[in-house]
Amino acid sequence: MTANYHTHTWRCLHASGTERQYVERAIEGGLAVLGFSDHAPMPYPDGYVSGVRMEMDQLEDYVTTLLDLKREYKDEIELHIGLEAEYYPAYFEPLLRVLEQYPIEYLLLGQHFLGNEIGDAYSGAVTDDPARLERYCRQSCEALRTGCFSYFAHPDLIHFTGDAALYEGWMRRLCRCAREQGIPLEVNLLGIREGRHYPNPAFWRIAAEEGGAVILGADAHTPEAVCDTASLPKAEALLRGGGLTRLERLTLRRPTLARP
Ligand SMILES: [Zn+2]
Ligand SMILES: [Zn+2]
Repeated sequence: MTANYHTHTWRCLHASGTERQYVERAIEGGLAVLGFSDHAPMPYPDGYVSGVRMEMDQLEDYVTTLLDLKREYKDEIELHIGLEAEYYPAYFEPLLRVLEQYPIEYLLLGQHFLGNEIGDAYSGAVTDDPARLERYCRQSCEALRTGCFSYFAHPDLIHFTGDAALYEGWMRRLCRCAREQGIPLEVNLLGIREGRHYPNPAFWRIAAEEGGAVILGADAHTPEAVCDTASLPKAEALLRGGGLTRLERLTLRRPTLARP
């Protein structure tokens, strides 16, 4: 792995270390590219505070901190400034309006909640409800079609324990949608590191049959995790059939209100 585009910072309240430590660790580990993609702030109504993302007034500091590091380390590593965001229909345009004021180079789609987060459950919660599976797939496809996302992080986050044929049908639609939009799917190394329910082998069998692009993402919440070589064999085993084209470098799409 020579590039990682999935990296968090302390601002999301569940990551640790300084940005500089992540950069230094990436250089030591031999990465040529490191992209930061902390959980995006959301323009929520006053009074609602999400416990898993930076606040809107921290975005300025996030960007300036990374711009300074980008300059300082330019001869040693290529740094990029991104965000990992959900597609929440009620907040997406207001979010883009804010992001357009900053040099945000890319968004990763991480659909952690359905609906608009507020009052809805975590997408990764165990469920056998076909309606939740369908909502996850429909909402994620709608997100991919905005043209604002550069890759789809842990597309297999939904933890569906119901009918396997139903799961397969919806996941095929999701994989096709990503392929049609030219958006790579991510094998999430954090899931491997922590033994989570994703990456889900059933999903990756379907994805390989559907074809398209795949990328590995460290989803680092600590500096040590930016170069997660220990998880690579399991990630590579999932992709062994070779049905997906593995990308090392990502084509960055700047998120914009202007539809491509
Ligand atoms: Zn996180
Ligand atoms: Zn993440």
